[in-house]
Amino acid sequence: MRRWATPPLTPKVAVSGAAGGLILSGGLVSFPDLAALGKAVHDCRRCALGSSRTHAVPGVGPQNARIVIVGEAPGQMEDQQGEPFVGAAGKLLDQLLRGIGLSRSQVFITNVLKCRPPNNRDPLPEEAEACAPYLDQQLALIRPEVVLILGRHALARLLPGHDSISRVHGRVIFKNAITYIPIYHPAAALYNSFLMQTLEQDFLAVRTYLDRAARQPAPVTAAAGGADPDHQLNLFG
Ligand code: URA
Repeated sequence: MRRWATPPLTPKVAVSGAAGGLILSGGLVSFPDLAALGKAVHDCRRCALGSSRTHAVPGVGPQNARIVIVGEAPGQMEDQQGEPFVGAAGKLLDQLLRGIGLSRSQVFITNVLKCRPPNNRDPLPEEAEACAPYLDQQLALIRPEVVLILGRHALARLLPGHDSISRVHGRVIFKNAITYIPIYHPAAALYNSFLMQTLEQDFLAVRTYLDRAARQPAPVTAAAGGADPDHQLNLFG
């Protein structure tokens, strides 16, 4: 039995939503910009995490970011500070970004879930479902050159069907006009130091992709598979 009722995601007509957003049929929420979306996330009660969180964590970064990074869910420190990736995994993420010449201020960082699950448990499917319109809208507003998928929960949400991060990490995957590069979650490398080298290599794949995209904006996609809606490219292979 479900422990709580999920609010309806599919109102029949368009209605005004929180913070000036518009709830459209199909459960999509349309916001004019990231600030309006962030405000709606702070007011959100679409699932039970809205009652247990300290702060919602919509995400941080500029709306014109070339890269969006999607993790799993806020942890304890993120819940306290209202910002994603401020704990140990965040420090490693910053280090990996610096290693490829990027700073946190240049990328947009967010999570599948915008609120912390109690005791850092895995996101429940209904929570990920309730939160999905926010992530979809963030990607639509930012239109990044590449989305970095951190770990298996973000992989399951953004590329369903690619069930194993160990099989797809470091690859460039084109789907529905968005370019994704899945990589291991930095927290995994904190627990298993053998993954650190893999993580560094995957970030080099990101650098290689960005450099190629800067040299030849459209053809990177075309060369890698053109119209194929879900095409993979191994930058090192
Ligand atoms: N912090 C986040 O914001 N997300 C994660 O997935 C892990 C830590």
